[in-house]
Amino acid sequence: MDISCSQILDALQAQIAVIDANGAICYVNQAWRDFASSNGMSADYEWEGNNYLAACKIGSTDEGLQAANLIEDVISGLRDEAYLEYPCHSPTMRRWFMMHVAIIPSTPLCVISHHNITDRKLIEEKVEELSLHDPLTGLGNRRLFLQESHRQWLHNQRYHTGMSVLMIDIDHFKIYNDYFGHLAGDQCLIAVADVIQSNAHRPDDVAIRFGGEEFLLLLGQTDAPSALLVAEKIQAGIMALPLHTPANGPITVSIGIASARPSSLSEANRLVDLADKQLYLAKESGRNCCKITHPS
Ligand code: GH3
Ligand code: MG
Ligand code: MG
Repeated sequence: MDISCSQILDALQAQIAVIDANGAICYVNQAWRDFASSNGMSADYEWEGNNYLAACKIGSTDEGLQAANLIEDVISGLRDEAYLEYPCHSPTMRRWFMMHVAIIPSTPLCVISHHNITDRKLIEEKVEELSLHDPLTGLGNRRLFLQESHRQWLHNQRYHTGMSVLMIDIDHFKIYNDYFGHLAGDQCLIAVADVIQSNAHRPDDVAIRFGGEEFLLLLGQTDAPSALLVAEKIQAGIMALPLHTPANGPITVSIGIASARPSSLSEANRLVDLADKQLYLAKESGRNCCKITHPS
């Protein structure tokens, strides 16, 4: 069979370039040309002779510099091969690629291939999203809370700002559930979660379903008076829901609030403990109220 190397390379989906030890492009395959022309380059652009390493460094983006470093490592023999996953979004599409770099044996040349890994990345994003959210209400779950509270704790430690946690528990929910049934109970949980979520306005506010009928609202960079205002809005929003208890009253919640700066507590979880104690006090005081603590 009379078949050339470039015929084989042109049949591949991966975008392939061969560069010399200085980074100058010696060869690109058809998929490389097609990708470039679908991104606005002329179809007959002369790639050969352009310096790929220099192109990676233009703009000093993290991914570009990382790619250049890896290619230089492979050329200098520091690594046998290298991989880099990187985003390459177009104005209309989110997409990711994986670059693979390897020396062509017995030559000073290096082959670089780019593979589209968008499908895998989108699935990974979906799996991560599912693992961090509650399927009933769509709010974050405990895992998201741990992740976010830790991240914000470190941020607050660095910038000497405070944060607050609201622990929100539906009053007498067992009676509601037993009277109207589990499905109606689920709808009530969804409605309450929506009110909590609609009061999480800022980028650092995170609404969480903590357990059965208990919710947390993490309020980043928020002091005690502001946290109390948010809690009162949530109470009013839940009482205004078009739902009623078996005794024909509004749905109510009790809320425990803790506000602190990381300098006054050892870890974010202590804030949850404190909010939990305040919630207990709110229940003891007859429910449908807020209790707050802000250790100095
Ligand atoms: P309190 O005012 O002291 O908080 O009383 P409560 O009845 O709200 O609290 P309790 O802990 O006794 O009962 C919570 C109930 O929440 C128990 C269970 O029936 C209900 N529950 C927990 N998870 C779910 C769920 O996912 N769906 C439904 N429908 N109900 C749930
Ligand atoms: Mg309850
Ligand atoms: Mg409870």
